[in-house]
Amino acid sequence: MSDEVTRTEELTVGIDLGTSNSVVAIVRDGEPVVLADEAGNRTHPSVVAFGYGSATVVGHRARQQLTYAPENTVYSAKRLIGRRYSSEVVERMKRMVSWGITEGPHGDARIRVQGKVWAVPEVSARVLSHMKEIAEHATGGKVGSAVITVPAYFNDHQRQATRDAAAIAGLKVLRIINEPTAAALAYGFGRERRQHVAVYDLGGGTFDMTVLRMEPGIYEVLSTSGDTFLGGDDFDAAIADWLRAQVEKQHSIDLSDNHTARTKLRDAAERAKIALSALPAVEIRVPSLARDKQGHGIAVHTRIDRMQALELVMPLIQRTFVVVDDALSQAGLSTAQIDAVLLVGGMTRFPAVAEAVGRYFGKEPVGSINPDEVVAVGAAIQAHSLAQGFDPEAAVLLDVTPQTLGVGTVGGFVEPLIPRNTAIPTDASKVFHTAQDNQTEVRIKVFQGESRMQADNELLGHFVLDGLRPAPRGECRVKVTFSIDADGIVHVAAIDQESGRAQEITIEASSNLSREEVQKMKFADLGF
Ligand code: AMP
Repeated sequence: MSDEVTRTEELTVGIDLGTSNSVVAIVRDGEPVVLADEAGNRTHPSVVAFGYGSATVVGHRARQQLTYAPENTVYSAKRLIGRRYSSEVVERMKRMVSWGITEGPHGDARIRVQGKVWAVPEVSARVLSHMKEIAEHATGGKVGSAVITVPAYFNDHQRQATRDAAAIAGLKVLRIINEPTAAALAYGFGRERRQHVAVYDLGGGTFDMTVLRMEPGIYEVLSTSGDTFLGGDDFDAAIADWLRAQVEKQHSIDLSDNHTARTKLRDAAERAKIALSALPAVEIRVPSLARDKQGHGIAVHTRIDRMQALELVMPLIQRTFVVVDDALSQAGLSTAQIDAVLLVGGMTRFPAVAEAVGRYFGKEPVGSINPDEVVAVGAAIQAHSLAQGFDPEAAVLLDVTPQTLGVGTVGGFVEPLIPRNTAIPTDASKVFHTAQDNQTEVRIKVFQGESRMQADNELLGHFVLDGLRPAPRGECRVKVTFSIDADGIVHVAAIDQESGRAQEITIEASSNLSREEVQKMKFADLGF
């Protein structure tokens, strides 16, 4: 292929849109490569700094702004994507971040910076756009489409919102794939051996465990399990709590309501945690943490070694194995049947985590993969094969739905329709009938989650089947089909059994953006 052709060609990239960092990769001359920015960085903070008129700064430059204008600098937006304002995660986030979180028109959580409110996909779109620019700069080509990765445990709203972010950034999404599946694709590239692979993915905020069967050309996910409240942040919090207890005891004060002091302690805790991955012991210094009752400044100066840190975080490491057990039992496999264990996510750089995984499986995790880059590499491999159209050499990916899809029933219960760990794409149907005489509409609520109680699951939305013939109860029957596509996104269709009329269904009360809103948010319309 000549240089000229490459330059004008539309490129397809793989993007790992991470909570802390994002990575972009492509397949060039048959080999996946991670693309670096002008400064040679291969990973880029998923941070967006506002304060430049309508423009924003993203990545490393934005991260620098975090120290002097934290209220204008948005990080960890991924934790909020697709979340309802009323959710527990949002409450936790409000205590954690320096920028504002507010309720959007769909009950969705939105980001408030400098008095302006942004939908979360608008902010993520800026990160995606930055990845696109890096790829275009590195290759001289034009990026048209991408495979974007999401945590295996993302529900429909989170996946849909990620798609919206791509649309706002002007990227065509070829496929949304799960991060652990992408890691397995990268690991399996060029390996022909049939094997069972376990992917242990511990990031900043979430933990996912996925079991796959790899055969030449086929990657089949057998099970996936996760905990959306377990990640590096919890490790930081455990160390920060230990630090806080020391300071409070020594100075007889209570810092529980001191937001600034707690943020400083958490930052110090994270730095210490990362340093402990390389060193046996580290010093922790926070020069001006707070003031004591007499108004004197309090400084922290202490030391922590690996043993002490391990004691603090051991319960968290142990919690990951509850999830690992669940994933293995769902796959019907024992640890002895796992041929390779892959570590993904920044937190797996913590030696105690990697050692615990090794002990549990009775084998060393694969050492040759880069936990920060492997997901983007897998996304690039998948993007390349999808862009080829039909490619007999391309790997087939068979993924599963991570959460049960069900409908609400009387008494606040949920009836499961598509159980978790079902291979996708898939569909299931249910016939609904009227419960009262002359009832002309039926309202149906759709939930995702493992609980039998509605209140403990994510409400994806509800819709109304209307225009039914007035008739004695039970006579009108409507068949509703719920399907989950290859991106893990839920679709609903309905057919009136009597007339054969297909009902147009729009899910209401969903926190997702409408098509019109996405259109309006596109950068071109914002004067980008
Ligand atoms: P990720 O979401 O995969 O980017 O992972 C981010 C998490 O990994 C954060 O909690 C980081 O503090 C943590 N992390 C990154 N590097 C290290 C390291 N070298 N040692 C321990 N934890 C790390």
